Amino acid sequence: MKVLFATPEIAPWVKTGGLGDVAGALPPALRQAGVDVRVLVPYYPGLRQAFPPDKAPEVVELDSLGAEFADSALRIAKAPDGTPLMLLDCPAYFDRAGNPYLGPEGRDWLDNHLRFGLLSRVAAWLGSEANRLPWRPTVIHCNDWQTGLAPAYLKLLPSARANALITVHNLAFQGLFGAPTRGELGLPAHAWSMHGVEYHGHLSFLKAGLQYADAITTVSPTYAAEIQTDAEGMGMAGLLRHRAGQLSGILNGIDAAAWNPMRDKHLPFAYDADSLAAKKQNKAALQREVGLAVRDDLPLLGVVSRLTHQKGLDLVAALEQQIAALPAQLVVLGSGEKTLEAEFQRLAELHPGQIMARIGFNEGLAHRIEAGADLFLMPSRFEPCGLNQMYSLRYGTPPVVRATGGLADTVIDGINGFVFKEATTAALLAAIQRATATWRDRKAWAAMQADGMARDVSWAKPAAQYAALYAKLRA
Ligand code: ADP
Repeated sequence: MKVLFATPEIAPWVKTGGLGDVAGALPPALRQAGVDVRVLVPYYPGLRQAFPPDKAPEVVELDSLGAEFADSALRIAKAPDGTPLMLLDCPAYFDRAGNPYLGPEGRDWLDNHLRFGLLSRVAAWLGSEANRLPWRPTVIHCNDWQTGLAPAYLKLLPSARANALITVHNLAFQGLFGAPTRGELGLPAHAWSMHGVEYHGHLSFLKAGLQYADAITTVSPTYAAEIQTDAEGMGMAGLLRHRAGQLSGILNGIDAAAWNPMRDKHLPFAYDADSLAAKKQNKAALQREVGLAVRDDLPLLGVVSRLTHQKGLDLVAALEQQIAALPAQLVVLGSGEKTLEAEFQRLAELHPGQIMARIGFNEGLAHRIEAGADLFLMPSRFEPCGLNQMYSLRYGTPPVVRATGGLADTVIDGINGFVFKEATTAALLAAIQRATATWRDRKAWAAMQADGMARDVSWAKPAAQYAALYAKLRA
């Protein structure tokens, strides 16, 4: 079974969120499960640095796709774990500063439709008879809107041979562009309909993927059900209900090597379920690192997140006084909406030693918060899967989560964490109060930590589920 895993980001080299983590960890797990998988990803500066051109030989030029790609090629490299990478080298599109989607000033690149149109086109082309390489995938596994046109191109290409699966990591990002982009992307006029790539007068990459893919997955069973409801379907619910027979949820795993408190290179003190005293040392070290009072008699609440409306952290900010009065400590690491960043910075100034905010992206500190905090907060309004609650389980840091998406599928109230229903400050506060009361009950707390730390949150099971789905697609 030959599978092309097409993705716009891949950890640890290029990552803006959970999809990057999935792309870094699922393909190696698929290889373990016996799948012949290769990863197609743009050759961004981060990958160019890790796999310089002399270490990534060019295998095929892409000028057959059009004169404008005369300078483009596919380069082959191997990740350190042995996963073959197909690096899409188109310097005009991908050798740029900034992140995969935004320029250095934080604005979307104006040619994102062309950049990810190319990624989609190359993915489809690899799955067609036009691909004369010795390796031709039988399944194209697409991820999010950036690869959403691949299933459309596959359906429209006469020589296409591969089946397409699209995984939705977050339905909020739909890849919407103006109508004239259809022609620029080489999509035929007949595809411009409600049953094609058109979405309320725009071109939607994601809708194209949902419309044309042979199967659709999303990253948790609960999210798969939620996105078929008008309340949470973000305008795609009708289409998703129509495709319900091809839609399923496969829960993400985590990179169990990178997120292992016994072997975590970012932690000052290694620990596991049998040596939780060292977790306390990590707490003191974290308090010192971020400038909180070094107190082991106060519960320390941790947050690592994009600061956006989705994540519900405005609810945490609104509870500032109640959290301080519990009393508890709070450390927030994140970046995103400027108003939330400013709000957490203001709270840190208001409650020195008790509330701390670090604005920015900091991989090492994220690990140290998972290890040093007593509780981890994820009050998300919606959460397709969520990774941090699984890291928290593994790190003996019971998560406080809202019952939505993957949070509902991974955290069990009163067993390994705390679950609340309504996205309100009252419901969140009640859950935090329950959690801190339990934290003071040493026996109950130890039982919760033990349950979370013993759960299998690795990629082994999800990889087997994907492998079974690929096989079903080929049958
Ligand atoms: P999403 O993909 O919606 O952002 P996930 O929980 O699925 O949420 O994944 C987020 C990933 O990004 C996690 O690995 C998390 O640790 C990481 N992350 C988010 N914000 C930061 C930050 N400011 N610093 C370090 N890591 C972060």
